[in-house]
Amino acid sequence: MVEIQSLVNLLSQKVSVVIVTHINPDGDAIGSSMGLYHFLKTRISDIKVITPNDYPAFLKWMDPDNHILPYDKNKEKAIEIVEKADVIFCLDFNDFVRLKEFGKYLNKAKAKRVLIDHHPEPKARVDYSFSDTSASSTAELVYKFIAKHYPGEIVSSLSASCIYSGIMTDTGCFSYSSSNPETYIICSELLKCGINKDSIYNSIYNNYSEKRMRLMGYCLNEKMVVLPDNCAAYITLTKEDQENYSFEMGDSEGFVNLPFSIKNILFTALFIEKKDYVKISFRSRGSFSVNDFSAKHFNGGGHRNAAGGESNISLDDTIKRFNDLLPLYKEELNMLLDK
Ligand code: 5GP
Ligand code: MN
Repeated sequence: MVEIQSLVNLLSQKVSVVIVTHINPDGDAIGSSMGLYHFLKTRISDIKVITPNDYPAFLKWMDPDNHILPYDKNKEKAIEIVEKADVIFCLDFNDFVRLKEFGKYLNKAKAKRVLIDHHPEPKARVDYSFSDTSASSTAELVYKFIAKHYPGEIVSSLSASCIYSGIMTDTGCFSYSSSNPETYIICSELLKCGINKDSIYNSIYNNYSEKRMRLMGYCLNEKMVVLPDNCAAYITLTKEDQENYSFEMGDSEGFVNLPFSIKNILFTALFIEKKDYVKISFRSRGSFSVNDFSAKHFNGGGHRNAAGGESNISLDDTIKRFNDLLPLYKEELNMLLDK
């Protein structure tokens, strides 16, 4: 790994910069990317953000001028930008496979690659790495990068709002992964940059359609399976459910956390039937690692308490597989219950 100062020097020259993040970008992926983008944009004229695919509507305010280029909408342009880039920032992922097909172009790009991320065991080959698994979010690390290498420089309220959003969403509004006092010092600094935290909250959490709210009710009433003996609960969304409720990208955000409101539920899952696979989200409380569970059984990964995976068998078979696995973890989960 080369000295960080050489990166800062490089960024002060006339360079072409690209910021990329993982597939199905979430609040931290877009928040950290756009926070960095809006900050660097005032210093670097040739800077772009490319995502592997589109991202939810409730995050669109972070990109008022529609700069983000989803790779799957214009592959040729995205590939050309990556090939010409001098510096590529890789945000909120630890392995290029998290960018699916787009990842292979990053692997072979001639640019200097900079990783800023908080996922465990980074595998992406990069030239500079800011990897810290103890950080609440990648957005927090972006703030630290800016504060350390551009001390005293103004962070616009838009840039700060994006960074704050990344921290807020990746900590479930400061309900987990947020016990480090430094996170709040950073939020305090962001407030000084002029952010309106209440309006950020509203634009992210109170901006859904009526259909999404009704889908949530339907999920809780009819689709949630609670398995108290296993300290587990899960929700499934078939293609038909999604059609019935005019499902849009981002509508299922947060659903996987809903069963935690039930006493003694420590492990949750959400299964979403896609065109040719099943997308799975796992969440846990305490020391039970859904990262390990997902990596072992569902080709996935993530963090100890929040991970995702995929299944290439049918939704019914996936659910059966999940149910068959639960008894193996029953004892471990029950041991974690507050007695
Ligand atoms: P989500 O359930 O919100 O999609 O993802 C939760 C966490 O797991 C995020 O940190 C995300 O980056 C990670 N994640 C989601 N899906 C996958 C996957 O298929 N593979 C890996 N390695 N990580 C994933
Ligand atoms: Mn993150």
